[in-house]
Amino acid sequence: MSRIQSERLIQHFIELVKIDSESRNEKAISEALAEQLGTLGFEVHKQSVDAAISNGHNLYACLPGTLEGTILLSCHMDTVTPGNGIDPVIEEGIIRSRGDTILGGDDKSGIAAIMEAVRSIQEQGLAHQTIELAFTVNEECGLHGSKLFDMSRVKATQGIVLDSGGPIGTIITIAPGAETMKVTITGKPAHAGLAPETGINALTVAADAISTMKLSRIDEETTANIGTVHGGSATNIVMPTLVMEAEARSLDDDKLAAQVAHMVDAFEGAAERHGAQVSIERSREYDAYRLSDDEPLVQGIMAAFAANGVEPMTKPTGGGSDANVFNAKGMKVVNLSTGMAKVHTCDEEIAVADLVAISDFLFTYLSR
Ligand SMILES: [Zn+2]
Repeated sequence: MSRIQSERLIQHFIELVKIDSESRNEKAISEALAEQLGTLGFEVHKQSVDAAISNGHNLYACLPGTLEGTILLSCHMDTVTPGNGIDPVIEEGIIRSRGDTILGGDDKSGIAAIMEAVRSIQEQGLAHQTIELAFTVNEECGLHGSKLFDMSRVKATQGIVLDSGGPIGTIITIAPGAETMKVTITGKPAHAGLAPETGINALTVAADAISTMKLSRIDEETTANIGTVHGGSATNIVMPTLVMEAEARSLDDDKLAAQVAHMVDAFEGAAERHGAQVSIERSREYDAYRLSDDEPLVQGIMAAFAANGVEPMTKPTGGGSDANVFNAKGMKVVNLSTGMAKVHTCDEEIAVADLVAISDFLFTYLSR
């Protein structure tokens, strides 16, 4: 038994995914949502962001309630590519694109679920908590919208990001921190046939460094990867420079710091052995978070799932989300599955039943 209107939820979801909103192009979606939230009775504030981040706005919205408590609900409005001209089809209870684009259920499933829950609560004249919304731009290219989110109006100390996959009832309570490194190795060019011994091959330096480096899975909480390599211009030139992009992640901030230090040491040691130079630009992408199952926020979410007959389960993840950023801003925030699946591919899909179930969860959570 659903207390939200499934048909209306699906129609709204389809309407939202048809609005092109690849990262940095969120103008249309942010304007449409600002208008729709206003109609629902929210007080909406558009937050300007740097034009390099988005042509649209972060949205903050608030709907005061009469029940005790204030909760921040958050989703991102952007999609990965190819995300223009999405034409969804529903077959046997599954919503997909026509196959040449992503679906955009990441993350418009969360937006549609929230708005249907609020719409139904209001129609039925039910009391609810105070609801604050943070709809962010440009999550996919580095959590930019949430990092820039102006928290000055936010009253909630707890929040729910709806931006994960897995069975409905999945509650991400532990997520890693991540750091990226852009490593530039500078050796020395030389003619590869006439005087190769006078050169320093940057690739040889990199290979030496990597041969001493722990990569891939470091331990159950920590991973590291070198993802890109660019260097060299011709076979007859000893490769003078090489640029690599690497990352490390860990659920534990101390382990992350240790892994990054290890990688830096390996590059610097190899550079020294070969008489090369290395420069490393480090960037903290996001911080880890870890909430206990005893946390009142987690307990409240589990109780609402259980009341709907859904088995809740808390889980760690290997990925970062806006939840990492809001936790770093001092809030307690988890990330819930909306049922989105195969995201970031043209096979992305979501089951109608899952979309209905997460909206029903929000209905229960907000009005109990
Ligand atoms: Zn997402």
